[in-house]
Amino acid sequence: MLKALKSLLQRLYPCGKCSVGKAVYLTFDDGPIPEVTPKVLAILAKYNVKATFFMVGENIDKHPEVFEQVVQAGHSIGNHTYNHMKGWRVSTAEYIANVQKWEEAVKRQSPITNHQSPLFRPPYGRTWVWQRKAVKRLGYEIYLWDVLTRDYNAHRTPEAMLAQIKRQTRPGSIINFHDSVKSNERMLTVLPQAIEWLQKEGYELAAL
Ligand SMILES: [Zn+2]
Repeated sequence: MLKALKSLLQRLYPCGKCSVGKAVYLTFDDGPIPEVTPKVLAILAKYNVKATFFMVGENIDKHPEVFEQVVQAGHSIGNHTYNHMKGWRVSTAEYIANVQKWEEAVKRQSPITNHQSPLFRPPYGRTWVWQRKAVKRLGYEIYLWDVLTRDYNAHRTPEAMLAQIKRQTRPGSIINFHDSVKSNERMLTVLPQAIEWLQKEGYELAAL
């Protein structure tokens, strides 16, 4: 009965990610970084969950082996520009060139990872509206977040981050972490606790 209802809902709402079930999306920005990203991968593997990594192109070029590890583990990757670009400071042409430079970085990797990613997250979550339109014209879907852990902030404690995740997470939530050196310890402390709580609450952790 439940299965039939679910499949009916999925037919009514083909965007299964948006409306059906209790999915939550963990996202990690600014990697891949050798000091941090493999540790995130190990935690995700331990709990058998998939996530999404919005990578910076120059980090893909610097650390192709870490990039490969993320892809091989079956996680989604998204474009976060080549240079973590501040859209509001540059022209749309410059912004789009940087988005495409990210694509070139991905293409330089092995054939296995030579794929176009339709996911885009603007650095800082900020762009001009016409830049967003231009990114969409390239075929991207833009994903921000609704739960911002601010794990990059040295004043944040893992306890505060976990409390925030518990307070703000809803079905369909997109939770923002960073696999960056700045976030390293805080994020790695809270991540397993967050996953355990989310799973206990019946959330399914999925990649975008
Ligand atoms: Zn970022």
